[in-house]
Amino acid sequence: MNKLYVSLLLSSSILSGKFITIGTGGVSGTYYSTGQEICNLVNKNKKDTGLRCLVEATGGSLINLKNIKNNEFDFAIIQNDVIHKDYKEDKSSNIRSVMAMYYELQTLVVQTKSNINTYDDLKDKRINIGNKDSGTEATTLVMFDSIGIKKSDLKFAGGLSSVEMPDALIDDKIDGYFYMVGHPASNIKNACNLANAKLVELKGSAIDKLIKENPYYKKKYIEENTYTCNKKRIETFGVKAVLLSSTDVSDDTVYMLVKSLMGNLDYFKKLHPSYKNINKKSILEGLSVPLHSGALRYYKEIGLIK
Ligand code: GLU
Repeated sequence: MNKLYVSLLLSSSILSGKFITIGTGGVSGTYYSTGQEICNLVNKNKKDTGLRCLVEATGGSLINLKNIKNNEFDFAIIQNDVIHKDYKEDKSSNIRSVMAMYYELQTLVVQTKSNINTYDDLKDKRINIGNKDSGTEATTLVMFDSIGIKKSDLKFAGGLSSVEMPDALIDDKIDGYFYMVGHPASNIKNACNLANAKLVELKGSAIDKLIKENPYYKKKYIEENTYTCNKKRIETFGVKAVLLSSTDVSDDTVYMLVKSLMGNLDYFKKLHPSYKNINKKSILEGLSVPLHSGALRYYKEIGLIK
């Protein structure tokens, strides 16, 4: 086959499908691998559906939301607290729920020598609270309000992205960092394996109040021995990661993505420990925004919704 023919063949097969993008997070987080797994399932059916799914690494929930609203992404994974706040402020927004996925947990990783044992010890420390585009930063600031800490109480409030955080800890540039993430994540694995690090519990009456006042937060635990640096289980709070789309994405596209995933749910659930509690009930629980009509069509078809 001559070269021209090969390249014509390639470009025609690339052009023959419709590309869809899923916005995720940093490559050492859980959104990124989740997006990849969803795309793998969608791409298995590309002959029938004509859909080709691509994943994009991003700075996290806030930029994902922005990019769903302006049609940069067809789908994105976003924290439910971020979605809830945004929709409350603008009920005419184009954002729509596809499914609730798994709980991610607010995680405080610190250097053991930092002597940070509770959130009260954060004052005058060098703490990375998350990059501006992240849900991590948004939730950490909400949590700071509840526990009575201001950014200015810290010696340094860092805005490094999630991929940069473990190295900053290992290189002693920060005493600790927050990360709202599904466990286990390679990000935290690296910090635990390479720095003398530990996980700090986020608990007490102020956190209880935060959970009570905001139904999308739940008391959660990072199970013991999830990482080399947590022999005990770690109490904290979590929020659901939600797969979101918009009214600008067609019903057929959303229907086919949901069908590809839900039709293989037993397989999907085994791909990451965070997914183990996903089931036909949980995917509709706690959503802050109405369902996309393409997702609704699938859920009605399988009898989940009357
Ligand atoms: N929850 C994080 C955020 O929105 C991202 C977590 C991940 O990438 O797994 O910033």
